[in-house]
Amino acid sequence: MAKCWICGLPANSAEHRTKKSDLVTLYGPGPYKGNNALLLIKSGEKIPIQGPNSKYVKYDKILCYKCNNQFTQPFDKAYENFISYIRDNKSLILNKRFIDFQDVYGDEFEVCQRNLFKYFVKSFCCRLIDANYPVPKDLKVLLFRKSFLTRLRINFSINDDPPVLRDLVVGKGNLWARPQKNPPPDSRWSKAFEWIKAITRPPIYEWSEFFEWITVWYWYNTVPDGRLGSVWIANSQFIYFGSHTVLSIEEREKLIEKSNIDVSE
Ligand SMILES: [Zn+2]
Repeated sequence: MAKCWICGLPANSAEHRTKKSDLVTLYGPGPYKGNNALLLIKSGEKIPIQGPNSKYVKYDKILCYKCNNQFTQPFDKAYENFISYIRDNKSLILNKRFIDFQDVYGDEFEVCQRNLFKYFVKSFCCRLIDANYPVPKDLKVLLFRKSFLTRLRINFSINDDPPVLRDLVVGKGNLWARPQKNPPPDSRWSKAFEWIKAITRPPIYEWSEFFEWITVWYWYNTVPDGRLGSVWIANSQFIYFGSHTVLSIEEREKLIEKSNIDVSE
């Protein structure tokens, strides 16, 4: 049996790839049949999903029951409250383009926004394990801490495509991983030295997840794209959204022309 990546005990619990509460919020409790049918699109393949507990929306067992349910429960709760806030305040957020965590969590915002960051760390680490990459030590350690240093930075952007193309969709972007570049070795010793540096140096990862019109961007050991929002590592009461579109202006115009899509909010 695989080991839980948080505590090392046997992993007997399957974490959702797509959060169950997100599926229930958007599509109801299931079953997803008939008019309610739901498709998972994975590497271009369309997979019908029967309900929010389908095996297709879960990772393999990579956590123990205690870590998945008890230890990380406040992190999950912070995320659920964050999502329900952004759904309830959509027009306000789209207009202001920032969030004050005091508005989301009240006076407990300091603890809750840190738990939200830890939720994103959990989600990111589960994805790394799923792709057979090791979990960086700083990420595992920070789950237990009130203050921490980390190589992971996050920012948030608003998808400015027409609402009809972005709403009621939840999903994940590609995970990009690359080793750090090394200078060319000039001797046998420097070659060995570079090799040791390469295997001990943390790699670079980039990833994203989206919930309807909001995308969360993950930057591990690399510089975040500033156009995608202010950088956040649970160190600020405010997040400022960046902007992105999936379609280019030409693609968008073509699609609207072809399908007579209503692009108003
Ligand atoms: Zn565990």
